[in-house]
Order: sequence, then C-alpha cells, then structure tokens
Amino acid sequence: MNSQTVLVTGGAGYIGSHACVELLKAGYHVVVVDNLSNSKSESLLRVQHITGKSLTFYQVDIRDKQALTEIFDKESPTTVIHFAGLKAVGESCEQPQLYYHNNVFGTLVLTEVMSNANVKQLVFSSSATVYGESTFPQYTEDFPLGAINPYGRSKAMIEDILRDLYAADKISQTNSPWKIALLRYFNPIGAHESGMIGEDPNGIPNNLMPYVAQVAIGKLPQLSVFGDDYPTRDGTGIRDYIHVVDLVKGHLNAIQALNNHCFEAGGCKAYNLGAGKGYSVLEIIKTFEQVTGKLINYKISPRRTGDLAECFANPDLALKELNWKVEKDLHDMVTDTWNWQTKNPQGYI
Ligand code: NAD
Ligand code: UDP
Repeated sequence: MNSQTVLVTGGAGYIGSHACVELLKAGYHVVVVDNLSNSKSESLLRVQHITGKSLTFYQVDIRDKQALTEIFDKESPTTVIHFAGLKAVGESCEQPQLYYHNNVFGTLVLTEVMSNANVKQLVFSSSATVYGESTFPQYTEDFPLGAINPYGRSKAMIEDILRDLYAADKISQTNSPWKIALLRYFNPIGAHESGMIGEDPNGIPNNLMPYVAQVAIGKLPQLSVFGDDYPTRDGTGIRDYIHVVDLVKGHLNAIQALNNHCFEAGGCKAYNLGAGKGYSVLEIIKTFEQVTGKLINYKISPRRTGDLAECFANPDLALKELNWKVEKDLHDMVTDTWNWQTKNPQGYI
C-alpha cells in the first residue's frame, strides 16, 4: 500500500475524477482542489462510491495563493497532478485573457506554493495541441512546438515555465530539484466502466465523441462531419483516441517514474500519451452504430477551421520510460461512453 498524499488540481473534472479513482485504488491519499468552474462535486461523491474510499476536497481556486498555501500546510502532499485548467479552444479565442489568467497564472501560483512548501514533484496535463503543423502525422516529443490558438499556447507557455523552473534548479545546484512530467494527451474519450463517472460537457459539445453520444441518445438531432475531402483513407479527419482510464493510468506510472532513479537528479520531460494509431470520423460513427445498434444521423459539412487532416502519437517514449501503453481499444471506448451516456442522460444532476 502507498501512504503518499497526492494533491489533484481539477480533480472533480472529467479526467481528474478518473485519476482519483485509480489513485485511491492504488492506495494513495487523495486531496482534490477544484473551483468547480467546469464540474460538479457529485463526481467526487461517485469516485468515493466506486472505490469505497474517501478523499479530501477543497473548493478552492488555484489562483488563491493563501488558501492553497494553507492546504499544502495542512495536507503535506508529496506530489501534485495538475489538471485544473480551461480547455475549450473556441472560448480561448474569444476570451484569451481568461485562458492565460486561469491556466498560466494559475500554474504560476501553484508552483510558487509548491516551491515554498518544498513539494517539487509535478505531473502536468499538457496536450498534443502544443505541436506545430506537420506534413508527417505521427508526433514524437521532440517535434517542434507551435500551438495555433490561445488554449494551446497557454499549455505551451506552462511547459516553458516548468522547463525553466527545472533549469533554475540546475544553476543553483539545489539538492531537491524539480521532477516534472509533461503529459501530452491525444484525444481522451470513454468513461469508467461503472458508468458512474464520465464526461459531462457544458452545453453543446465541441468534441466528436460526446457529440455522437448525444445524437445517439436523441439529445442532438444531427452530427456534422467536418470535411470528407482530407487526404485520409476515407476523407474524414483522423485522431488518436485514448480511453480515459488508460490515460489516467499513465499518470500513476509517471508518479512512479518521478519517484525512481530515472528522475533522481530531477528533470522536466514530455511524454506523449496516445495509442499510436488513429481512427477517422466515419470509423468512429460506424463503431458507435455497431455498439449501440442505433443509426447516427450525420451530414457532411465544411472543414472546421484549424483542424488537421491526421494526427496521432508516437508513444514509444512513454513505454520505454514510464512503462505505459494503452490497453483498451475503440470498442471499449465506445461501449463505456455509451454506458455513461445512457445511465446519465443529463450528466451529473
Ligand atoms: P475538465 O474541465 O473536466 O476538468 C478541469 C477541472 O479543473 C474542472 O473540474 C474545473 O472546475 C477545474 N478548474 C479549472 N480552473 C480552475 C482553477 N483556476 N482552480 C481550480 N480548479 C479549476 O477538463 P478535463 O477534460 O478533465 O481536462 C483536464 C486537463 O487536461 C485540463 O488541463 C485540459 O486542458 C487537459 N487536457 C484535456 C484534454 C481533453 O480532451 N479532455 C486533452 C488534452 C489536455
Ligand atoms: N469532428 C466532427 N464533428 C464534430 C466534432 C469533431 O467531424 O462535431 C471531427 C473533427 O474535425 C476532428 C475529429 O472529429 O477530425 C476530432 O475532433 P475533436 O474536436 O473531438 O478533437 P480535436 O480536433 O481537438 O483533436
């Protein structure tokens, strides 16, 4: 059993709540800090129901330095997993200040509090959106960065800040250096197999999977497939979808790596978390129809601005250094999404 305390920012959200389940199952003490700006505390009640274990929850904004300091004093975490952030690309283009303030300033406050408390192990939710456009669709971690919207740039800025923090330790030769894993997620979908926790988007979903699920259940009339003239096998966009439970297990492996010899002298390293292969929009629709027995009403629409034809991970580094790879397939992702959707047609209420 593990007696470490892990502080999870954004732990009430979609990915954070699934991470809490796996952390509790692995025996960690879990402390969640979330301002509930995009989630409900019901998710945390369900996490505790699934695991039969309890966690500690603070409804606090990570930009509130005093409150965060008090939490660190009281809870003495050894590691932080930092999920808290705003994530809607379109909204980030409309309100860039909100995104930079929440995501970048929030992370600055968090890392200041961590430094003061001498807690220097951090797993950060980054994103494949930090990568620039490429003619080669499979991304390795050394691929040039070049985010194209404020959300992606906020992630890239945070990565820079975290790399600078680690570099500063090297200059001052501190004996407790930063140990940081930057996890670049590809496209998380799916839900816990219990159907008790899952993705509960606000309003009309932007992402493909929740949109398809809401069409299937009759909440939305029709899916627009954004473009069927891409240079891909069926003309529709290809992405690397990853089951959210596989994704969060990558975080537990990252904590273990930070604790072991790989990071003995500190470090700040990026890892792709993806399956290493992609599915097209039409393949997703077909699998959804097979799993649910329902026809998905869709129409072909123009391409969405800023979308790439194809993008998937090279996950070799995560396998080599974090001993992690995906275990679930598209059928599992769709089955679990549908289970969550049918059990919770209105999301968390
Ligand atoms: P989510 O919105 O469901 O969860 C984020 C949580 O952070 C929410 O519970 C929200 O209330 C909380 N939060 C936001 N700002 C906060 C603040 N200032 N203080 C305290 N809490 C705050 O999103 P998610 O899908 O679970 O994503 C988690 C992280 O992973 C985010 O940082 C996101 O950018 C990143 N990410 C997500 C995806 C994806 O497709 N879901 C892909 C790549 C990266
Ligand atoms: N997509 C679509 N219709 C939608 C939402 C998304 O055709 O209503 C397509 C989109 O063009 C992309 C894929 O589905 O090819 C995944 O989109 P999503 O927004 O889920 O992820 P991202 O584009 O951010 O990787």
